Amino acid sequence: MHVIITTNALEVGIDIGDLSLAVLVGYPGTKAAFSQQIGRVGRKGEGVAILIWQDEPLQQYYMRNPLEFIHKAPEVVRINPTNYKLLAMHIPLLREELGREVTKEDLQDMFPGLLEDYIETVLQVAATANDEAIVDDKFSLRSMSGKNYSVTIRGQNQTIVDSLDEWSALRDFYEGAIYWTPGEKGYRVDSINRRKGEIIVLPIQELTYYTQSTYRDIIDIMQSYQKQHIDGIDMAYGELEIKRSVFGYKKVYFGQKHESEQVQLDHPSVTRFTPEGMWVTLTDSQWSQLKNGIQELADEGRSIDLLAEASLHAAGHAMTSVIPDLIICDANDFTGFSASEMTAFANRPVIGFYGENGSGLGTIEAIYEKLPQVLRKALELIESCPCAEGCPSCVQLPGKGNVELFKPGAKMLLKILIEGID
Ligand SMILES: [Zn+2]
Repeated sequence: MHVIITTNALEVGIDIGDLSLAVLVGYPGTKAAFSQQIGRVGRKGEGVAILIWQDEPLQQYYMRNPLEFIHKAPEVVRINPTNYKLLAMHIPLLREELGREVTKEDLQDMFPGLLEDYIETVLQVAATANDEAIVDDKFSLRSMSGKNYSVTIRGQNQTIVDSLDEWSALRDFYEGAIYWTPGEKGYRVDSINRRKGEIIVLPIQELTYYTQSTYRDIIDIMQSYQKQHIDGIDMAYGELEIKRSVFGYKKVYFGQKHESEQVQLDHPSVTRFTPEGMWVTLTDSQWSQLKNGIQELADEGRSIDLLAEASLHAAGHAMTSVIPDLIICDANDFTGFSASEMTAFANRPVIGFYGENGSGLGTIEAIYEKLPQVLRKALELIESCPCAEGCPSCVQLPGKGNVELFKPGAKMLLKILIEGID
């Protein structure tokens, strides 16, 4: 018997011939990837594929509804090539190629559907960018946020990760953070030089815990590209500003022996970025409808305001879990947020999502367009889970703050929003 243990590298249509059994450890995240992976076996003769579902809301949902999974169509791939930030970054390269300035007419020829105002914005953004850095081979294929970070082992001059964008670099790397890949060595972050974009790590002998950053985001609206008020649902799609302060981290020990520990950083890092975002704001009547509903359910002594807030968070979590199922994306491509009082949203209760990997992926725009489906699927996810108060199979998310979540209220809130659509 021959056994191959592999990452998803085998997904890309390599024909090894006579494999007969595939064991998938965890759902790969999309039906398309799942079909590719199980398709590695049975190419000559019979084949059997086994999928081991993991403890995560969407996977548990499909474990409860296997037929729905089997009949589910592959996801739709999204890309937004006319995103203005992406276009603006290409202008200096185009100018090099043409050997002259890029004009409005050039862009109109290439993208006949774009509005004149939009093209002018693209040219303006391009004019203010530092083109030398872009033309000078600094055009990162991995990210759009400009500055790149590298991870180097102290004293060995050996770079282990290259071209990390600043946003994810500072989320995952801070003094004391553990960097590891399963089955390989672990490293602890020793120092970070933001000016040079350098992260220095030290090898560690024994890996006993990993780290998860704890951060706070302050969110503001830069501009709204689109707004809609459809049947009682207020939603918008635009550019947000996120100021993220990473102020500490959690040490999570392997095994059950140790409780996890919270550590504060001596020097919190603050990063600012301006991702695409979409958000749904609740009207006063929707919010009071929810509170009235909660009043009837809640035990004496529980604060209705806190439960309403916890319902908002739980609904946001359920939506986060189902999004990768409706739109082809990775769960790490976007971040969800929810709050009942945030100045940027005029203190109205809000559930929103912003892109993590720069703009241009089209994920956020797709969430905006598919909001009705997202709400319905989130409700199905919650309703089909037999628990009463919320559990890791429905409203809890791995690695997120899962404290104030109220499942019965989330169900009510999603219904209120869906009634608005129908
Ligand atoms: Zn549950």
